[in-house]
Amino acid sequence: MSEKMACHLVDMTVLHTSVSLPLGYLQAYAETDPGISGHYRFFKHCRTIDRGIEPVWNDIQLLIERQEAKRQVFGFTNFFWNRNANLTIARRIKQVLPDALIVFGGNDVTNQGQTLLTDDSPVDVIVNGEGEIVFTNLLAQYREAGADFQSVNGVSFKCPDKGIVTTDPQTRIDNLGIIPSPFLQGTFSDMSIKASVDIAYEFSRGCPFKCAFCHWGMATGTNIRRFSLDRIQQDLEFIASQAGHITRIWLVDANFGMTDADVEIAYLLADIVQQSKKKILLVANWAKNTTKRVMEAAQVLYRHGIINGVTLSAQSLNNDVLKIANRRNIPFNYYQQLQKEFATLHIPAYTELIFGMPGESYRSFLEGVVKVIKAGGVPVIHPLILLNNTEYNSARMRNDYEIRSRIMCFMKQGLSDADILISHNRLPYEEWLKGMGLRIAVPVFYGGILKFVMRQFHSMHGLDYGDMLDLLVRYCMDGRLMSHPQFAKIFLHYMALWDSGDNVLPTPAGIKENQFGHAHYLSLMKCVLADTALAKRLIDELCEAIAGELPEGRGAAFAEWAAYQSLLVAAMSQASRHNNHPIRTEFTASQLAEYGEVDFIEDHGSFRHIAIRSDYISYTPDDFIFRIFFGGIDTLSMFGAARTVLPMNTSSI
Ligand code: SF4
Repeated sequence: MSEKMACHLVDMTVLHTSVSLPLGYLQAYAETDPGISGHYRFFKHCRTIDRGIEPVWNDIQLLIERQEAKRQVFGFTNFFWNRNANLTIARRIKQVLPDALIVFGGNDVTNQGQTLLTDDSPVDVIVNGEGEIVFTNLLAQYREAGADFQSVNGVSFKCPDKGIVTTDPQTRIDNLGIIPSPFLQGTFSDMSIKASVDIAYEFSRGCPFKCAFCHWGMATGTNIRRFSLDRIQQDLEFIASQAGHITRIWLVDANFGMTDADVEIAYLLADIVQQSKKKILLVANWAKNTTKRVMEAAQVLYRHGIINGVTLSAQSLNNDVLKIANRRNIPFNYYQQLQKEFATLHIPAYTELIFGMPGESYRSFLEGVVKVIKAGGVPVIHPLILLNNTEYNSARMRNDYEIRSRIMCFMKQGLSDADILISHNRLPYEEWLKGMGLRIAVPVFYGGILKFVMRQFHSMHGLDYGDMLDLLVRYCMDGRLMSHPQFAKIFLHYMALWDSGDNVLPTPAGIKENQFGHAHYLSLMKCVLADTALAKRLIDELCEAIAGELPEGRGAAFAEWAAYQSLLVAAMSQASRHNNHPIRTEFTASQLAEYGEVDFIEDHGSFRHIAIRSDYISYTPDDFIFRIFFGGIDTLSMFGAARTVLPMNTSSI
């Protein structure tokens, strides 16, 4: 029998995994066709993109050298974060193997034939839409008749006589059960599952909504199609049995908690995790219109330590902005009620906001942030990424709203970039830049080191949270911060990265890439927690800056608030080093009771030992990742853990 043709499948992922769900589906479905399984041999290459392309390229090169056949197929799954990396690998493949067939599929490249099938592009075929059936048909056609794909629905390809040919769309898969489970099928090796910290999984496909910034799995505005409960149960049991000690399951569904079936799965997963005796966390995109179902699913999962919190997706709280985005949020009074319910259940609830949507100004966005804070929520702010195949990225929207964007580093400069909106007709560039400052100021100041004083200034003097945050952003951006040079330098470095055209500003400390402020946030928190005497000076200076806004001058209690805030930061610092070790204070018992941010440990009359309440610090997507990564124990141990893995030495900045 002749040698099977090699079919390489590549996923440069942002997860820490070698188990790629899309590649597993492609292979498992293709192998249901004996014509494919008998004639192709599959090789999957799934690596984390932050390690660059060399590990994948080395594997591919070795395999190419071992195969005699020059006709080999290379299928790449694409999202915005890996398109450039995939193109780079594809070019290298074409250099050593000009006869290779390069196939690109996935969200980012669907319907992008005109830009991706140019003469100098290494890509030969694009799969438009859902991949399993199309890719299988394409492999069958290639084996039988070579690179003429006119009879294969759902592709665009370079045709020697006709230029770029796009065939009729392939109908969506109604019955997801026709795709065998790559877990149960043995498509992934047991070793690769065990070694993967992250595993992507899917309960359903589709989303009935059509938000203008989203192209979720190419299935927005569609009915939801589900895998059977039986299959999900078998898969989850298998994953739990094979997984390593700590595993995160990344649910790629668009709206978890939207249906009764999701609630059923939550109970099922709780049972499976309990029996497995492993730490398994679920990271989910919760349903946009949070309902009682979300509440029930969240409760059961949180109780079993399977989630760290719930995300309420608001994106904007401005009705005009939402209208342009084709989006209707839940009524705000219902949102407030949900916040209260989650608080009563002690389930952290984050509110996702996107800064820069058409129709939004810096001020209107700030008002939304304040609404979230006042409702007791924790705002998490994302920049607006203009994704292919979304309405925001259409020529009409770009034109109508005078949208300007800039390619910026997402994870790896030049290999993993994102197209970020930097201005539109209601948002001048300078205001956008300030919004990026707000993005880090909210978690660092409101969520971290000034929460108590900001609350006091608000409740005792009526200062607006938005005004305070705006002042703090401008104060740091303008280079006025003097008391903590290292903090000031990191903040300015963060701003300079967003402001820089090529967005790479190397420092001796090694922050070479923006990574959307991830390293900066951790560095700011670290340098505050590392030196409490310096932190106290920083807090005093920022409190003075806020108090300068008061027409009646600083109140009598001002110095005490600043001292109390410094005490909290000292307690955080202590906790980050010694796991919530109690700290000595000379505040009176009644003062501590009045301010109420700490738990008493001991009262010795003249002094007290206190421990900080673990919910004092709120979360951003960045530290959220760390919390999950370190088992979601609590925020303070998260800071402790972050201390040891921080990718840089902040003292050398
Ligand atoms: S943002 Fe969420 S709700 Fe809106 S279309 Fe995308 S997946 Fe659906």
